[in-house]
Amino acid sequence: MRRRSASRLLAAIASATVAAGVRAAALEVRPGAVVRWPGAEIEECSLGERRWQPLDGACWYAIDLEARGVVELVRRSSGGVASRRVAVADYPYPTQELEVEEKYVAPPAAALARIAAERVRVVSLFALETPRRFALPLAAPLAALPSSARFGARRIFNGEPRSPHSGADYSAAQGTVVFAPADGRVALAEEQYFAGRAVYIDHGGGLLSMSFHLSETLVATGDEVARGQPIGRVGATGRVTGPHLHFGLRWHGARVDPDLLVGAARAVEIR
Ligand SMILES: [Zn+2]
Repeated sequence: MRRRSASRLLAAIASATVAAGVRAAALEVRPGAVVRWPGAEIEECSLGERRWQPLDGACWYAIDLEARGVVELVRRSSGGVASRRVAVADYPYPTQELEVEEKYVAPPAAALARIAAERVRVVSLFALETPRRFALPLAAPLAALPSSARFGARRIFNGEPRSPHSGADYSAAQGTVVFAPADGRVALAEEQYFAGRAVYIDHGGGLLSMSFHLSETLVATGDEVARGQPIGRVGATGRVTGPHLHFGLRWHGARVDPDLLVGAARAVEIR
């Protein structure tokens, strides 16, 4: 009994702490979500060190797939600086077990330098903040977009846990044309160890799209592309179990669920 009342006391303390936290952070969002905070005469939006311009009369915030805890959203307008806190909690994304070639789980020593160099090139793209060239919602990367996308899935490759799935996987037949989701500039197009043939497009406004595992790329690094332009074909290159398009979005550096911006913009609203 004593043990039970002690745990009840602890539970009461925990819920009081949570209540205090909830007062400070009114809104709960899942990792990978997009938050929209509309307002009049917004001059600048910011989160952490990143700053950007409003879009369609609102600040849009991308909540990274691995963000946890309280995140402070800041908005500067003619009326001054305002901030809102949102709470990012664990979200029950499903677990996905996959069997791939062993070289994609334990890369050979000879591949490590290549993997590291690719990582450096890619990480530098996450910091891009060029003038915005996209509108929301984004165009679909495939003519027929399947619904199951598995964003956020905890992945186990050949029995070993790896990082959560940071994009949407759209199954499609080998050779299916992949389209640019918006205007932009091809920041990088190359064949990579894990991503296979990959196209990274800078759409400005801090938005970077990634199309992986292509059988063929139809654009080159530095090319200007228009919304809806073919950029490649679906394939099974890199770490895959079969042909599909892996489509990822980084917005202001954060990994967000592409389904929230493609076809329709589905943001959590701050009022
Ligand atoms: Zn994927």
